[in-house]
Amino acid sequence: MSKTFLVVAETRGGSLRQVSFETISAARSAGGADTTVAAVLLGAATDAFVNELTQYGADRVYTVAHADLEHYNPQAYFAALQTVVQTVQPDAIFFGHTAIGKDLAPQFSAELGAGQISDITAIEVDDSGQALFTRPIYAGKVLEKKAFTALPWIVTVRPNNIAPLAIDATRTAAAEAIAYPEPSLQTIIRDVVRNTSGKIDLSEAKVIISGGRGVRSADGFKPLEELAAVLGGAVGASRGACDAGYCDYALQIGQTGKVVTPELYIACGISGAIQHVAGMSSSRVIIAINKDPEAPIFKIADYGIVGDLFEVVPLLTEQFKLALQ
Ligand code: FAD
Repeated sequence: MSKTFLVVAETRGGSLRQVSFETISAARSAGGADTTVAAVLLGAATDAFVNELTQYGADRVYTVAHADLEHYNPQAYFAALQTVVQTVQPDAIFFGHTAIGKDLAPQFSAELGAGQISDITAIEVDDSGQALFTRPIYAGKVLEKKAFTALPWIVTVRPNNIAPLAIDATRTAAAEAIAYPEPSLQTIIRDVVRNTSGKIDLSEAKVIISGGRGVRSADGFKPLEELAAVLGGAVGASRGACDAGYCDYALQIGQTGKVVTPELYIACGISGAIQHVAGMSSSRVIIAINKDPEAPIFKIADYGIVGDLFEVVPLLTEQFKLALQ
């Protein structure tokens, strides 16, 4: 029986988020050949993104455009998406495992009486066509495989784990505009002030250089920023560094910070507490730099450098500069 899976796409800073393409790819893998993958985009202006969503694999694109949707407002987004869901009647809704996806997914799970599998990192489809979703649990120490027993499904997809489909510039689709239901909002977003403008989004960065209490001061982050600039990466931090006032909490990675899954994670002066590891253990390659050879971070690192970060990091920066020239 043919099915329709709906992917909730997101933009940030005037571009579609990479996780939206990964989520389209996830929906495509989980559905069979007879599954239509539709994307929906909510925002103040949405038309500019329709082609890109189509070229990354969406068969159809629904848009809801309204000034209320310029910034994420839970009530406005829920009402807009509810209208799309009532129109499309999807068999599954796929969200990125982002702040927005984590907020909306359980609301639709409750709304539709649907099961939810969150934070998936891989999908396999068995011979009977049943999709098995992998999700890390216990701070990434265990991988759980789950399947739905009934439609509809609600799924959230962890960023940077499922490769997007190859872009196909020949694909085209007309956007289907759905009217915003204009709910009476109890709160409105007047303005969003970013304090990390111009920097790479941590949750989507391919390379992260993270500093812990071992950086000793705000200035101690400078060598890390230089290395990140050479590698085109972002700077992150442990809570130890944030609590010490060396950096902003927006950089915190871990159980109570951001969960990141870059290609390369370099932990500098971070001991490797379980709460930190919970946010970065799914990184593809982990390098730890720590002067204590017994630091727990070495247990999960692919490569370890025992040494003073203030000596090691500038050396790495010089070497990468030469190698990338
Ligand atoms: P430390 O544990 O003090 O480690 C500093 C490391 O730097 C040491 O290993 C030391 O050998 C090394 N070092 C010092 N100087 C140098 C140098 N010059 N060169 C090289 N190495 C050096 N933590 C998080 O990170 N993220 C979270 O989301 C988080 N959530 C938490 C939630 C709860 C409920 C709780 C209780 C804790 C949470 N924590 C979190 C805190 C966590 O338990 C640790 O306290 C924290 O991660 C420690 O940060 P750190 O590794 O930077 O500092």
